[in-house]
Parts: sequence; C-alpha cells; structure tokens
Amino acid sequence: MPQHKYVYYFGEGHADGNAKMKDILGGKGAGLAEMTNIGVPVPPGFTISAEVCTYYYAHGKTLPRELRGAVRENLARVEKSVGHKFGDPQAPLLVSVRSGARASMPGMMDTILNLGLNDETLKGLAKSANDKRFALDSYRRFIQMYSDIVLGIDRERFEHELVRVRDSLGVESDAEIPAEDLDDLVTTYKKIVRETISKDFPQNVEDQLQDAIRAVFDSWNNQRAITYRKLNAIPDDWGTAVNIQSMVFGNMGDDCATGVAFTRNPSSGEKRFFGEYLPNAQGEDVVAGIRTPLPISKAQKVGDEVSLEEVMPEVYAQLEDVYKKLEAHYRDMQDIEFTIQSGKLYLLQTRTGKRTGFAAVKIACDMVEEGLITQNEAVSRVEAGQIVQLLAPVFDAAEKQKALHSGRLLGRGLPAGPGAAAGRVAFDAERAVAMAKDGPVVLVRIETSPEDIAGMHNAAGILTTRGGLTSHAAVVARGMGRPCIVGAGALRVDYRRGELQSDGHEPLEEGDWLSIDGTTGEVISGRLPTKPSEVIQVGIEGSLNASASEIYRNFDNLLKWADRIRRLVVRTNADTPKDARVARLFGAKGIGLCRTEHMFFAEERILRVREMILARNEAGRREALKELLPYQKADFEAIFRELEGMPVTIRLLDPPLHEFLPHSEAEISVVAKEMNWRYDHLKQKVEQLREVNPMLGHRGCRLGITYPEIYEMQVQAIFEAACSLKAQRVDVRPEVMIPLVGTVRELQIVADMVRRVAGEVKQRHGVDVPVIVGTMIEIPRAALIADKLAVIAEFFSFGTNDLTQMTFGYSRDDAGTFLPEYVDKKILAKDPFDSIDQEGVGELVKQGTKEGKSANPKLKVGVCGEHGGDPDSIRFFRTCGLDYVSCSPYRVPVARLAAAQAELELKHFEG
Ligand code: PEP
Ligand code: MG
Repeated sequence: MPQHKYVYYFGEGHADGNAKMKDILGGKGAGLAEMTNIGVPVPPGFTISAEVCTYYYAHGKTLPRELRGAVRENLARVEKSVGHKFGDPQAPLLVSVRSGARASMPGMMDTILNLGLNDETLKGLAKSANDKRFALDSYRRFIQMYSDIVLGIDRERFEHELVRVRDSLGVESDAEIPAEDLDDLVTTYKKIVRETISKDFPQNVEDQLQDAIRAVFDSWNNQRAITYRKLNAIPDDWGTAVNIQSMVFGNMGDDCATGVAFTRNPSSGEKRFFGEYLPNAQGEDVVAGIRTPLPISKAQKVGDEVSLEEVMPEVYAQLEDVYKKLEAHYRDMQDIEFTIQSGKLYLLQTRTGKRTGFAAVKIACDMVEEGLITQNEAVSRVEAGQIVQLLAPVFDAAEKQKALHSGRLLGRGLPAGPGAAAGRVAFDAERAVAMAKDGPVVLVRIETSPEDIAGMHNAAGILTTRGGLTSHAAVVARGMGRPCIVGAGALRVDYRRGELQSDGHEPLEEGDWLSIDGTTGEVISGRLPTKPSEVIQVGIEGSLNASASEIYRNFDNLLKWADRIRRLVVRTNADTPKDARVARLFGAKGIGLCRTEHMFFAEERILRVREMILARNEAGRREALKELLPYQKADFEAIFRELEGMPVTIRLLDPPLHEFLPHSEAEISVVAKEMNWRYDHLKQKVEQLREVNPMLGHRGCRLGITYPEIYEMQVQAIFEAACSLKAQRVDVRPEVMIPLVGTVRELQIVADMVRRVAGEVKQRHGVDVPVIVGTMIEIPRAALIADKLAVIAEFFSFGTNDLTQMTFGYSRDDAGTFLPEYVDKKILAKDPFDSIDQEGVGELVKQGTKEGKSANPKLKVGVCGEHGGDPDSIRFFRTCGLDYVSCSPYRVPVARLAAAQAELELKHFEG
C-alpha cells in the first residue's frame, strides 16, 4: 500500500505542491510552493499537510507514526540546500514553524521563529554570522516565543524583563540593547522558564521541532481562532497546515530588512505598489507594531522618511520584478511578505490581498482594461455585499480614529444600513421632522413602527437599541438608504428623561450631536463630518458628472457586465415615487413590492384612515374611504409614471388596523380632539381593537375579507390611476398582490373581488389595462398548497420575512433577544432573517415554486422579503428556479451583481 503523503517539499526552483493545493497545504503553503515553482526566491522548506491536523484531533492529539521520519527526510533536503545542519554547533540551520490554513486567518494561530537554537548552537550562530549580538537577540526572541506558544508561559513575563532592560539602559528600541545585556536577558529568560515549569528550557532541537508542530496544531483550537472561524464561517474541520522553512534574517545589520506589501492599494485599489518595511528587523516587529515602519517606495514617502527604494535600489528593483511577476501569475492583487538578508531578497508569503469594496471594484475593472482578466472574472471577483460601500456616505477616516481614541465610542449595534451619519439626537419622529428643518438629525428609538416613517425619512441616520436585521427600523432604513444601527443593546433610551444612556459616559439629550457608522455598527458621541458617495452624486443626484468620477464609471461598468450574465430579474421594494426613481436609476426593472400602509400615514390622510377604522358600520367606513381614494390614486399614478413600461406590484393593505391608532394617553387626547370624539369613547375603541398577537391577528387578506370595502377602494385607485395614464399613452403595468394568504378560498374571494372591481373601472374609463393578480406566499400553509393557489394566481411572491417568522415560530421583532446566542451556540448557522434558511424555509420556497409552476407553467415567481437583497440567498433562489428577486432600492446593485455571480456558479457547476 503506498504511504500517505504528509509532507510536501519546496526549494531549488521545484515544489511538490502548487497553488491549487490550498485544501491540504493551506494558503501559505500553497503560495510558497507556487512561488518556488515560478522562480521567485523563497527559502527552502516543507509543508505538513492540514490532513495531519485532522488526524491529530481525530486521534486524541497524537501524530501519525510516519510523520517523524518524513519530517527528518525533508529537513535533510533543506540542510543540503542551504549548506547548514539543524542542531549543528558550528553553523546551525534555524527554521521557522508557521501555521497556515486554507482560508487566511491573520494572526489567529501561532508562529515560532529561530527554532533550532540552544546554548550550543547559539555559539555557532554567533560565529557563522560573525555577530554575537545578533545571535543573542535571536535566542532571546526564540525563548520568548517558544515559551509562550509551546510551554504556555505568559509572554508578558518576558516582555516585562525586556522593558526593564531598555529602561535601565535608557534606550527606546530593542536594537539598541548591547550584547552583554542581551546575554543577561537570556539568563533571566531561562530562569523564568525553570521557575515556571520546573524544567530547563529544552535544549534538544529535534524535540523543539516536534513540540512546535504540535503547538501549531493546538493553536487551531485556541479561543481566538475559534471565534474568528465563527465570524467568517470557516469550518472547524479544515485544520491548519504547518510550514517549516529555513530562516532568513532581516535583523543581521543595515543591509537587512523585513516588510509587507500589496501589489495595489488595498483601500482605494490604485494601481501602485504599496508597502512598508523595517530596516534591520525580524517579521514579527512589523506585525507587532513595536517600531514604526517606513514606506517602500519614493512615491509613497512623506517628509524625510527614507524609502527602501532609496536605501537599497537594487533590491527594490528586484522586489518590483517579483511583485509584477506574482500579480501577472495570480492575475489578482497580492499581499506579500519579504525579508532581505545581507542584500538578498526572499519572499516568505504571497496571498490574494483583502480589500475594501472600493478597491475590489477598481481592481476588477482595471484588470479587465489591462487584459489580465475577463469581464466574467471581474464580476465574480467583487464580493456582492461589498459594493454597498460605494453608495454610502462616509466619515473621514482619520477623524473617526481620533474620536475612537479619545473615548467617544458609546457602544455598538448591528450594522443595519451602511453609511455614516452625524446629527442631533431626536427621541421621537415628530421632533425629528421638526428638528430636521434646522440640520441633520439622528432618530434614536428603542424600536420604530410605521408611524415613525416621516421621522425616519427626515433623519440622516437611525439608531435603535432593540431589534434585529429585519426589524421595522432596519427594513425601512435600508429601503431609504439611511445609515442605521439596530439592537445597540448596551445603550439605553429613557424616553421619560429624554436621555440616551451608556455606562461610563454622560447621557446624551435631545439636540446633542451623535455620529453613527452603519457600516460598522459604531455609535460615537459628537459630530463627525460626512459626505455623499460619488456614485450617488453621479447616478442619483446628478450633481457630479460621470466623466469626473472614476468610482462611478467602474461601478456602472461592472454592473453592466453583470446584467449581461444574469437571468434573474431584479425589482425593488418601493412605496414612494422617490424610492422608485432611485431604484430605477440603480437598475431595478420594476417594483416587486409596494407596501401601501406607509401611504396612510401622511398628515392629511391619517385622520381619514382613523375615521375609517373607527366608523360604526360599513357605510361610515365607505364614507371615509371615499376621501382616501384620490390620495391613493395620486400615489399610484406617480409611481406608475416613474416606472413606465415596467411591472409594479402593489400589495393591498397588510398590517393590523390598530397600528394606525393612537396609543398613549396624550396621543389619544390629541386625536379625540381632531376627530371630535370624546376621550373615553376613543380610548375604549382603541382598547377594543387591541390584539394580543397582532402579527397573527386581524391583518393581511383577513382585512380584505372582513372589510372588503378597504381593498375595493385600493383596487379602484390602482385601476383608475392606470386607466387615466393609459389614456395619456403611458405604458402602465400594475400587478395586484394579496398578502398573507393561507387558504384557497381566501385567495379566491379576494382575487375575484380584484378582477371584478378592475373590470368595472376599465369599463367606466373605456380603457384596457391588463389585470394581473397574484399572491404573497408567507404562511407555510400557502407554500404547501402552492399547486392549488397557482391556478388562481398569476404570480407568487415569497414574503420570506413572514415565511421565516412563521416557519421557525420566531417573532421577527423580538428574535434579537435570543438569535445571537443561537448562532453563537451553533444551533443556527446564521440569522435566518438575514440569510435564507435553505434547509427549512428555503425548502418551502423551492417546493412551492416547483409545485406552483407545474400547476401553472405561466406562473411568475419572485421573492420580496429582505432576503431578496442578500447575495447568499439570491444564489439559492436562482437554483429554485425563481424569475425575480425584489429588494430595497439601495440593495438593487448588490442583487444585480449577486444574480450574475449565481449564474456563473451555476454554469461552472453544470460544466
Ligand atoms: C415579507 O413578509 O417577507 C414581506 C415582504 O412583507 P412584510 O415585510 O411587509 O411583512
Ligand atoms: Mg409579510
């Protein structure tokens, strides 16, 4: 039986592995192998496969028997390659032992440098390098690192001694500590080890190596790594590889250095080599931020900094060649680590560089221009969710850092609407509207409800202390493109005192300045300056010319390429002509959900709505509805005009009626006066309408069945608007959607009514407009009887917010209290309101679509819950055979890109 290959060698221009073997070599190992293969200078070494890590954990933390021999064999190849022997007291080979998983987990796992030093090899190193100080410095670093990682001795104890020596000598940097003091320090370090573990610091270099390998495997399961994996959805069973590589030294003198660089700017995407280096230092010094690094190029330097390009022009030129070679080879921006030893350059790492949304878009577009990648590749390279960064207003980065450093961070919440907002605090919607006349306002609430809509609209940003990512505040804010933070649980809103409280800070009162970063979830006191993004200035406001904004042009190109690829149509959820316009400018091809309830809250209508709800009988209701009709008609006309030639799905009234009524005593007394009612009388009526479980109560099509006149008025308004525009030759395409259907009869009754009323209106106007009637699928029962509903409905729209709520039985407004813990404890992989639960809710979507389409092949199927703007969910919906997704205007570009990526993946999958 052939032996399992556990170890992969790289050196002298050849490697056992290559870039494609990330799964077993990890990112770092695969990069080292690939660089070796393409002739980039890399110190020789070998990678122990991540499969050994899996073995280690599966076998009670023991290593495969054959591993020791394989390590020895490969170490011999390294010894031969560099001409030094491991453990040789004359001129020892030293190695680094580094972790490296399939996905990059920066700084989460452990690394040991200078391994192979002991009291004997120390002397040999001093002699062969002809530098005693350097050898002692390497030894003290090694003892410190090894003791921390392998022996479990607190790093701080060594750090404390190091600081003591620096202080006693009156020097600032470690590089200034002379050899004699380093010698003493080594003695002190060894003493710390002996005292702590009752054993001497290990002198056997083979044992050092074996124990270091184990320690790296152990670090896969340290708390930091576990948390990082959870946050980044990295599976626990991947394991890490271990890279053992001959050491090169950036700290052997002034012709030595170490550094990190990006082949392009990771923040802006600018095509310029960008990096930092430290002369006479070891890699860890750059990462640890002990010394301030210097710029690598002249172009990058500020003031009298000395760049690498100036001090080592030849090595810099070589580094330039290498970075160009790497970028051309990988056809993507690389993040590299290098060391210069005695004027000779070595690469220690290359990987695909992490980047902001801005950089991702620019790099993808530039690389298409340069002929490096295809348009399809560009589309697949940009993480769909990242492009919202290009739409959001932004804080000045330096100002924000300053504020955070000066202790102005009040707390954090869920980043629900990206972007930055600074404004004066208002605790209720009405005050927000009033105060917004004098400048930007941040609306701060425990939670929001439909009656806050005007306040939210007028606010520059919204902060709630309760609620999750599909709470009212989050949904509405995203729709409006407002920066928003929800569920900032460490903050307290005290309406009575009019205060926003946070431990350790002065409470904020109405009118105080507050800044919120909806991209990160940070809540900061005071005012940070913001500006609208260039994409908005060009695409929406028209205040900037496209020719003046490269950011806009790239954004636009990328989405055009995406449109050529995708098959899923993207519509929008919009309730106002303004939102509809924004969505159209962002590329939406119609409205998938127009929620009519928000239209009822405008000042001049709410009184009529209340009269309608409170009317004693049908006649009274009809009276009030008659007054509302012209308003509704005007609403629909404006929206139809905005989306001429595109489908506009209007949902008939959905929320429970009592949401439109006043609740507090003060509100009741104001409304009673307005309506000419007695206070007691109104209060009693409000009480009567109150429901214990309104979300499961008198709402949706249940209203249309018990109070048909409400829906009749809405249908009349829709078709009057449509007919009058049609008569003016405007191409209108209304679609009427019935919410919360659970039985066939419900749909049949309401659909019959819609068709009847629409027919009457058309006849009156003598105009023909297509009458399209569909249903939302948001109750599990509806998904289960999809075949029967599909013969009545012309379209389905999955309301995945309610469908998730009702399938799991989790209240979408309260789930914030336990869902984070559920995700933490891995009861759920993700928040199901954020990204569709494919196994359960998703299965209802899949089956419902299949059954629906087979019963009615012409059935159009879409989704209009928040998941319609989530890239992972969109990918899933594409595989379910949906025709369209509908999402908030500001998510439209994300959905366009994600839909194209879904198509590319599907093609790839299907070969
Ligand atoms: C839904 O339930 O998914 C939906 C779109 O409707 P709403 O969010 O208005 O309940
Ligand atoms: Mg719903």
